[in-house]
This record gives sequence, structure tokens and C-alpha cells, in this order.
Amino acid sequence: MTDELKKYLLSDHSTRIQTVRLDQAWKTGLAHQHYPACVQALLGELVAASILLTSNIKFDGALVLQLQGDGPIALVVVECTTNLSIRATVSVREGHDIPADGTLQTLLNTQGTGRFVVTLDPSGQNSDLKPYQGIIPMEGHSVAQVLERYMRDSEQLDTRLWLASDAEHVAGLLLQRLPAQGGHEGATAEQQAETWTRVGHLASTLKHEELLALDSDTLVRRLFWEEALMTFEPQSVRWYCPCSRDRVAGMLQALGREEVEDILSEREKIDILCNFCGKPYQFDAVDCASLFVTQPGMTHDTDGSLH
Ligand SMILES: [Zn+2]
Repeated sequence: MTDELKKYLLSDHSTRIQTVRLDQAWKTGLAHQHYPACVQALLGELVAASILLTSNIKFDGALVLQLQGDGPIALVVVECTTNLSIRATVSVREGHDIPADGTLQTLLNTQGTGRFVVTLDPSGQNSDLKPYQGIIPMEGHSVAQVLERYMRDSEQLDTRLWLASDAEHVAGLLLQRLPAQGGHEGATAEQQAETWTRVGHLASTLKHEELLALDSDTLVRRLFWEEALMTFEPQSVRWYCPCSRDRVAGMLQALGREEVEDILSEREKIDILCNFCGKPYQFDAVDCASLFVTQPGMTHDTDGSLH
């Protein structure tokens, strides 16, 4: 069982190679979310891409990839923090049929107004930094193509991505050409360009099934066995949504006793789904009553927290 990101570097420092593979984390992510196969596949590709791209961000915070669709899918959101905690969700537009062979274009860009929004949110220690947002047209047949274009046009980084997912796994491979260092014992710009072309050709032989089936080291060895590579320690990835029963309780407290009692007059219990991970929370009449019991010396704040 692996939920890992692995980094490799060509020993001439010309090209970065990264792989990601999720098994258990993907199952955790899908535990409360059920989508048609083509939607799930798209979500998995976006998950793989977000981990591969986040791993090179230099600040504390998160990368958020959002696909804002005009077709059967209204929104896909994937958030990956710089310590590789990931969560993701899909909003299906009501009343739209999802084609069984749905693609990025037929699910999200049927009228040509779909948008791909990339947000870099430095919410960690450097909170004085402002979030950066890039909006890119959804041009391309796949998540990989749209992101390759974004990286080239906005980040000036030649990047190639191979992404795959099925019900069991998420997997991805990234190649990125690093800026030529120049003027030292390393490779010349021409040599670096040659290397970039060569590794791109090698990776383009990769089959979707291979990407899903092979562990990272086997995959990289099979593709780049002739290249001199440096290998780094793997980094673990976890699926994590910060929702909790306490947070939902706080939300109900903020709604107020009257409102909650009103809802309960029509049903036995209140069912709430986390709108990010889909995890269900249930509060029956007894649970709800206990939310509004004020202990001596304590007052309820408007956000439901106790003081
Ligand atoms: Zn959640």
C-alpha cells in the first residue's frame, strides 16, 4: 500500500522526474463520494496533477485546482496542501445526464465557457503573502494537456504530465525541464535541450495501464533505465478533510435553537453531508438538545463556540 510522491533528478540537473501513486488515500477519498466512472477518472487525474505540481511549491500553503464547468459538471475542486494533504470533490449539475464516455470537454466545456482556475494560497506561516490566481481557458483534451499549457505559458516551465486513475488507484508522472544553469561544469543548454527531447520520447512510450499498475521505482527504471538518476526519499500523501462532528455542531449552534427545532419538527434527525468530502453527520433530537444546553458561567458566541 503506497500513498507516495517520489522525486528523481537527472544527474546533469536538466530534468526533474516525479511520480505519484495513491492506493489507500484514493479509497479514503472516494469513501463517501460516488461518481460515474468517467467523472471519477477525471477527478483522479486532477488529484494526481495537483500533488505533482504542489510538491514543487516553495511556501507553506495550498494549491487549489478548480474546473468550473458549463456542462453536466458544475465544479471540480482539488486542494492539496504543501505537506501533501489532499481533498477533492465534484458538483454535478442537476438535471443533466452524464455521458458514459464523458471527457473534460463534454463534461465541463460544452459551450466553450468552462474555466480552469489555479490558486496558490500561501496560508501557512507567510500569511502576509497574497493568494495568486491564474485563470486559463479549458483548451485541451485532457487535464494533462490543459496543465501543460498553463505551466508553459504562465510559469515558463516546460512540463509534461501523464495522469491516470481507476477505482483503485491514482497515478501520475511529471517531467519538468529545469532552467539551464550555464557557465559551469554541468550540461550546456544544447545538451539540456537534447536530454529534454530524449526523456520526453522515452516517457511517451508509457501506457495508461502501466502507469496504473507499476510502482514508482519500477516505472521509472523501465522508462529511464539508460539515464543517470538521483533518487530522493519518498514523501507520503494523505487524504484529509478537516470536517468534524464538532464543526457541524458549531454550525447548528450558529443556526440557533429555534431554527434547529423547526427542522426537527419535520423529521426525526438532521442529516448533514460535508460538502467537500461527503462524510455524513447525523444529529437526532437528543444531540440537538444538548447543543443548546448552556453550562453555568458559559455563554454561546454567535459562531457557536463556548467561552
Ligand atoms: Zn469533509
